[in-house]
Amino acid sequence: MSENTITQQDTIVALATANGNGAIAVVRLSGEHAISICNEVFRGKDLSTQPSHTIHFGTIRDGEEILDEVLVSLFIGPNSYTKEHVVEISTHNSSYIIERVINLLIKKGARAARPGEFTLRAFLNGGLDLSQAEAVADLIASNSAASHQVAMQQMRGGFSNQLKQLREDLITFASLIELELDFSEEDVEFANREQLKVLILKIYEVINKLIRSFEQGNVMKNGVPVVIAGKPNVGKSTLLNALLNEERAIVSDIAGTTRDTIEDEININGVTFRFIDTAGIRETADVVEAIGVERTREKMKLARLIVYLVDPTQDTISEVLKQLEEVKSLDIPYVVIVNKADLLADAERAAFDVLEASFISAKSQDGVEELKDLLLEQVNLKGLNADDVMVTNIRHLEALKNTQAALERVLGGIDNPVTSDFLALDIRQALYHLGEITGQVSTDDLLDNIFSKFCIGK
Ligand code: GDP
Repeated sequence: MSENTITQQDTIVALATANGNGAIAVVRLSGEHAISICNEVFRGKDLSTQPSHTIHFGTIRDGEEILDEVLVSLFIGPNSYTKEHVVEISTHNSSYIIERVINLLIKKGARAARPGEFTLRAFLNGGLDLSQAEAVADLIASNSAASHQVAMQQMRGGFSNQLKQLREDLITFASLIELELDFSEEDVEFANREQLKVLILKIYEVINKLIRSFEQGNVMKNGVPVVIAGKPNVGKSTLLNALLNEERAIVSDIAGTTRDTIEDEININGVTFRFIDTAGIRETADVVEAIGVERTREKMKLARLIVYLVDPTQDTISEVLKQLEEVKSLDIPYVVIVNKADLLADAERAAFDVLEASFISAKSQDGVEELKDLLLEQVNLKGLNADDVMVTNIRHLEALKNTQAALERVLGGIDNPVTSDFLALDIRQALYHLGEITGQVSTDDLLDNIFSKFCIGK
């Protein structure tokens, strides 16, 4: 952590709000000299004598030149986001003013903040643990009720609290077992193996649940990948357009013209669905088309739900049933939708009853709203409890899986007794991986990796 500890002494500055339109911009300073640096350019009250969590009106001046009339919010460390002194200057949102103010603050001794550096400091100074810091990025990026809910829950400490407690319990055991090592001549057991086993099983269960929550959590955070599949010309692009309500995919009468895959998203009742429009499943000699078809299969495997479209004017029931065999073989939930219902007489409809399909007309948008309800039903997010702890981060998933593997070795070591030193080693490994999640164990590389993905100002 060498680099971080050195740079942490600097006072950093960055624009905290987005570049672009808006009435107000916020320039944020954090560090030991945040207040004194701001004081040098602020004409109003003497900020060094003001209490924390107060707001002050005044001007920012470069020499005698007034750059802007501003409001300054004061947070005296450790009662701030970064736990350091923080000053937030609300200026008028002009890129010229912002640049001048930031440059002026840099001239007075601040340094431009690196991506995520405010949140990194919050972590290094103990304001947030690592998984909470990561949730800050998720929260800012959240664009649906579902992704917002998961990020908010994680930022408020969701599963890190649970893991911290379990880790503490395990540390107690690790210390007892390590104590046994000091008395190895005497064959003593300070750590009751039965109690240890009970604890390990308890942790194992929690970890297991968290690992299983990943799929659901990931769906809430990143949306449900849905593939609309079916033979060429069944109306996949038309349906996608109807769902997206925009002409985003190319609709054409020529079979196989939807060559590339186009992804797009819609939000149904707070859940994001990511639609993948595909080139259609069919055997073909056309090379370009074949690539498209291969990609379709690959994409279908990524889907969590397949919407299989059928064109009743093109296909017979037996053909459709054959196509569905292929869909079934992918082992992914699917719904069968008969499109172009507008071209079907009621009597003809009856023939398709065996498919237990819904009928729609993508072209006239009949049944499209019902299809949305069906999609929502399929992913069954209704059963989700808002308080359920959920893992959405691949890094956390990896650490959990590594913890799980170490715990399995510990259990094996209890059941087929191994010497205390081996047991201690595996427990330490489980502790290490648990600590990776909350950041009790971290390396420069890991922190760099996480925080470099943040924007400057976060
Ligand atoms: P894709 O190859 O599966 O993407 O099929 P397209 O969306 O390009 O549609 C193929 C043709 O079917 C186009 O001429 C569409 O206008 C037509 N089509 C799509 N949906 C419907 C529908 O519900 N009713 C009718 N009558 N025609 C449709």
